[in-house]
Amino acid sequence: MTPQPPNKTAKVYLGLGGNQGDVTANFLAVAASLKQSPVISWLRASSIYHSKPWGAGEHDLSAQADYLNQVVEIETELSPTALLQSTQTLELLAGRDSNAERWAARPLDIDILLYSDKEISLPQLTIPHPRMCERAFVLVPLLELDAALNGPGRKSFTVALKRLYLQYPDARPEKAAKANAQYAQGVSSQT
Ligand code: ADP
Ligand code: MG
Repeated sequence: MTPQPPNKTAKVYLGLGGNQGDVTANFLAVAASLKQSPVISWLRASSIYHSKPWGAGEHDLSAQADYLNQVVEIETELSPTALLQSTQTLELLAGRDSNAERWAARPLDIDILLYSDKEISLPQLTIPHPRMCERAFVLVPLLELDAALNGPGRKSFTVALKRLYLQYPDARPEKAAKANAQYAQGVSSQT
């Protein structure tokens, strides 16, 4: 049998979010786990941002706690679907209820935002993440990591974000000062 060529390394951006329990500790656990993986190289993480619950009109989100959000940049040889399995395992480890409805509060959400410049449309996985350009809490940390980043087809995230800014008056890391201090302390003790 001819050996399979190794997968090419992909640059991946993951969008992290959560609004239940110690979300910053969950973000730190994600960093620790990605750093330990033999098939993932950790590159960097954005600041943590604070945002209001977001979702479809028919769901009453007013009772939900505010969210923390972060974007992390990694490289991996995992295929997109294998990476989704890994990120879903991390969500479950953080205590996420896999049967909860889509807009429910959650301790950890991990979205695969970008996988190099691939466009993927599978029943369980769409990349770029289909709602990323409607969410300033995703675009702000993403552009913090790379202000010149474009999506597949040279889609400009900066232009997408300009349309959203008014929705996101809290788009400053200082608004999540406590979370950022906790993260900085935790991450400094990771190898
Ligand atoms: P959202 O991330 O929009 O808040 P959920 O996290 O509840 O919604 O959605 C989870 C489902 O989304 C998973 O079952 C997963 O198969 C699917 N999904 C589709 N595309 C992606 C992606 N790019 N990253 C993560 N999950 C995705
Ligand atoms: Mg998700």
